[in-house]
Amino acid sequence: MDPKDGTQLISVIAPAFNEAEGLPEFVNRLQSVMEKQPYPYEIVLVNDGSQDDTLKVMRSLKRGHRQIAIVNLSRNFGKEIAMTAGFEYAQGDAVIVIDVDLQDPPELIPEMLKNWEAGYDVVYAQRRSRAGESWLKKKTAKVFYAISSRLGKSPIPPNVGDFRLISRRVVEALLALPEQHRFMKGLFAWVGFPQTAVLYDRPPRYAGETKWNYWSLWNFALEGLTSFTITPLLLSTYFGFFVAFLAFLYGIFIVFKALFFGEVVQGYPTIMVTILFLGGVQLIVLGVIGEYLGRTFNESKRRPLYFIESVDPANPDKK
Ligand code: UDP
Ligand code: MG
Repeated sequence: MDPKDGTQLISVIAPAFNEAEGLPEFVNRLQSVMEKQPYPYEIVLVNDGSQDDTLKVMRSLKRGHRQIAIVNLSRNFGKEIAMTAGFEYAQGDAVIVIDVDLQDPPELIPEMLKNWEAGYDVVYAQRRSRAGESWLKKKTAKVFYAISSRLGKSPIPPNVGDFRLISRRVVEALLALPEQHRFMKGLFAWVGFPQTAVLYDRPPRYAGETKWNYWSLWNFALEGLTSFTITPLLLSTYFGFFVAFLAFLYGIFIVFKALFFGEVVQGYPTIMVTILFLGGVQLIVLGVIGEYLGRTFNESKRRPLYFIESVDPANPDKK
């Protein structure tokens, strides 16, 4: 790897959705960290179709900070896509993704840069603990990581968000993946390259509120699993075999019972239970197939990932 002599450009990408309130403080803190680094840098603010004054605030911040570039998407595409837009726009030799709500402390960036200088391509920030989160959220997160590491070929490190530094070649690798369903944590792990972690404590949000509820987290987890493994399809098959086998055994039992003890019209409960059970099993399996079919459908449309409404480039030369 080429030596880092302080001339490489560092891009910081911050996707923002309705973050008008917290943006100025975020830019301030980020700026004061970046100014102490030997590298030239740009801050790519991606406005992900915010409905509040986020864009206005970005523009007024840009007037005071020549390193700021603004990529304004045509609507809300979600953080994963907003990040991708940032990757596509960023010029840096190293690219850092960070949330604007200050849950990802910018003060961690120097340590990330150190690891990058030491030759790592991906330096992700890993939470020391999930303090302050509800019991249910911790438990469900744990189950998700357990399942995904068991099923996937490229396990996702636990307690890691999107906050990380990636090198130019990892950016290129990510951009070479054309999928619509962009489960970034999974993609980061999937592309490989030397990776390492820096530990931190995740503070609560500085301002505004999270866009995640349990339903969106559930969908996010589904996305994570279905994007990276087709094991659920395989499991459905085995599940089907298993149920068919039980039905077969039960069938033998019924035949013998009828032969040896005769059969008066009876057995309404068994018939009901069997029908309902089999119906349920079939619907579940169909649902699993549908999940994958739907994703195939979305991918097959080959739509562009996002549209940009406007770009305000950085002017690093202006003093
Ligand atoms: N975000 C975004 N588009 C969205 C939702 C969120 O760009 O549709 C941004 C948001 O502004 C923030 C980051 O993604 O900078 C993380 O969002 P949030 O804080 O809601 O997630 P959490 O920290 O709770 O995981
Ligand atoms: Mg947050």
